[in-house]
Formats: sequence, C-alpha cells, structure tokens
Amino acid sequence: MFDIDKIRKDFPILNRTVNGKPLIYFDNAATSQTPQQVIDVIVEYYSNYNANIHRGVHTLSQEATDKYESARHTIQQHFNANKAHEIIFTSGTTHGINLVANGFEALLQQDDELIVSALEHHSNIVPWQMLCERTGASLKVIPMTEEGELQMDVFDALLSDKTKLVFVNHVSNALGTVNPIKTIIDKAHAFGAAVLIDGAQASPHIKVDVQELDVDFYVVSAHKMCGPTGVGALYGKETWLNKLPPYQGGGEMIAEVSFEKTTYADLPHKFEAGTPNICGGIAFAAALDYMNDIGYHAIASYEAELLDYATEKLAAIEGLRIYGTSKQKTAVISFNIGNIHPYDIGTIIDKLGIAVRTGHHCAQPIMEYYKIPGTVRVSFAFYNTQNEIDSFVEAVKRAAIMLA
Ligand SMILES: *Cc1c(COP(=O)(O)O)cnc(C)c1O
Repeated sequence: MFDIDKIRKDFPILNRTVNGKPLIYFDNAATSQTPQQVIDVIVEYYSNYNANIHRGVHTLSQEATDKYESARHTIQQHFNANKAHEIIFTSGTTHGINLVANGFEALLQQDDELIVSALEHHSNIVPWQMLCERTGASLKVIPMTEEGELQMDVFDALLSDKTKLVFVNHVSNALGTVNPIKTIIDKAHAFGAAVLIDGAQASPHIKVDVQELDVDFYVVSAHKMCGPTGVGALYGKETWLNKLPPYQGGGEMIAEVSFEKTTYADLPHKFEAGTPNICGGIAFAAALDYMNDIGYHAIASYEAELLDYATEKLAAIEGLRIYGTSKQKTAVISFNIGNIHPYDIGTIIDKLGIAVRTGHHCAQPIMEYYKIPGTVRVSFAFYNTQNEIDSFVEAVKRAAIMLA
C-alpha cells in the first residue's frame, strides 16, 4: 500500500547532497518538494503546447485552454466544490486572502466587526488590518492557550450581530495545531457572519470537503502540496463570489469595455484578470492527482507515526521545549533548547545537510505569546522517514552540546 521507497524515488531532489551529506528536507511547511510526475507536466507544457488561453482560435491555445479548465475541474473535485466556477485560480494563499479582503470593502460599515485568531500567519492578519483601516471596521482576536489551541469560550463571547467575517487557519503553520473549523463555521453562521479558512497548511495533510464544512471561502497554495510556486486556488461559494466586486481590472475579466461603461465577465473570469500562471495551474492539478493516488488516509497515518516518533525523541533531549502540544496536530514540531538561539541550531544542522526553518514563521503574535524570538521548526511530509528523524535528532544533540 504505502511504499516509502517507491515514493522517495518520485522526488529527484531527495537524491542530492548538501554540504557533502544526503539532503534531509524537514521544511515542508514552508514549501513541499515536487515529484517527477509534476515536473514532467511542466516540461510537457513548455515543450508542446505553451500558448495563451481563452483567446486564440489556434490549436495550441485551445489545447492549453482545455488543460487549464480541466485543471480547474480537478481542483473542484478535490475540494468537492459544487461548481467549477467556484474555484478561482490565484497566485497562492496570500493572493486569495487579499482578493476576499479587498472585496469586502464594499460590504462593510464602520461598526462592523471581524474576528481573527491569535494563531494566524501574517498573510491572514495584515490584509484584514488594511481593510479595517479603510472601512473603520474593527478586528477582534480569539486568544490562544499555552498548548497552542484557540480559546473557544472567548470566541463565543466575541461573536455578535456586528460580526461580519471570521478568518482562521485550518492548521497553524508555526505549531501544527488543527483548529476546530467546523465548529467555528457553524457558530459564525449562527450570527450571519461569513467564514474564510486559510487552508495553506491543512491541504497537504487533510482531505478537505468545502460543502461538508459549509465554508464560505477556503484558500490554498499549490507549492505546499507538491505543486509549483506562484499558483493556488480560492474556493468561494457562488453567492459570495457574486456579491464581491472584482479585485483587479484588466484583460480576461470583462464582458464588454467602453470608456462610458465596462461590464464584468461571469465567474470565475471576473476574478482572473490578466494572463494567469497557466502551466502552474495545470501542474497544480497534476500534484493533486499525485497525492490522491497515494491517498490522504495513507499520508495522514504515515505522517502521524513520524510526528509521534520525532516528538518522543526530541522531548528526551535535555532542556528542549516543544511549543504547540495540542492533541490535534499535523506533523509540525516547533522547539527551542534552553536559551540557544534557534538560528544557531539551524545553521549548524544545515552543515549536516538538514533543512529546517528557524525564526518567527510569519506568526509573530504566537512568538510574542511565548515571549520568544522564534523557534526551530521541523515539518514532515509523507516522503520523510524515521531514519532521517534519527539523523536529525543526533544532529540536534550535537548542536546543543556545541552551543551550550
Ligand atoms: C504558507 C502559508 C501562508 C502563505 O502562503 P503563500 O503561498 O506564501 O501565499 C498562509 N497561511 C499559512 C497557514 C501558511 O502556512
């Protein structure tokens, strides 16, 4: 069923060395690696049918258009959206959030309230702060606990008829916490508020069904789920997407243009101004096919084993503290050892070929909560192994001795 040796052969980058050592790639929460099956699709695009879409009558343009629209269907099916035009191609999660935040400007008034969580990536904080500055709406924060979970009783207290929109991540990129988004969505809906879920960190590990969740907006990046950078998707309920004005003006997003009046194209094109990342969109669909072939159940149970194994090994290191101990976690471990700066650990283990993230992980409010400048973060994917974790733990022990 889950053949790790076969899977690793799909990823050419896993064969390389770094500083003379075999690469151990534990920075999957920042970006995932790309299997040969997806690389082949990218090469095929530029070798065979590179052309602009939706415009040309010529064969190449039609082939590219067909593949791009077929990619939209693959994404629709993957997330179980009701309609293909509820999938908007974006350049990634950040773009998707900005698109929605920008659109809500037309729908908000001075007294309106928006609710965010303390566990967010900066890209799910800053666009909303900018929106609040422009509209006079105010931003309320669901605080976190020591374990890195949301204080749901405070969320209940923050909700009111003034609440227009709630936005939280499905999974925290800094701590790995899986948030109770179904509960959040249902509670927000009871007050008539819309909900946007930042799914950048969940989508590589959890199979998402947007209709079952009844979520209004769900945003993802292809590059965190075995696809290329610079492409992603925004799922939006048709009713909401119709309510929002376009984000950017340009080619492709119009029905008719004159200097007196321009009318906008229907969904999804209304939100897709300009030439998109055509190859990226097609490769994104190939990445979803690849992950679905392996299967999300197999991926999740394998990654849970890696998480448990690594957590136990790391916790045994003297002076090591793990941040984020929620019972519901994906395969992310954030930690520090005593007062050693995370950057120093990261630099030493890079010399041993091991890639981890150090710093605030674009989530400074979390670091502020723990009163730390940052953490060392390891994040696993389904192509990592227990052997790699063993080498990593040895490397961390060595670094700790050197830096003590
Ligand atoms: C990576 C990430 C983002 C930003 O994604 P981009 O691809 O850089 O736009 C946002 N939120 C979370 C939780 C992330 O992990």
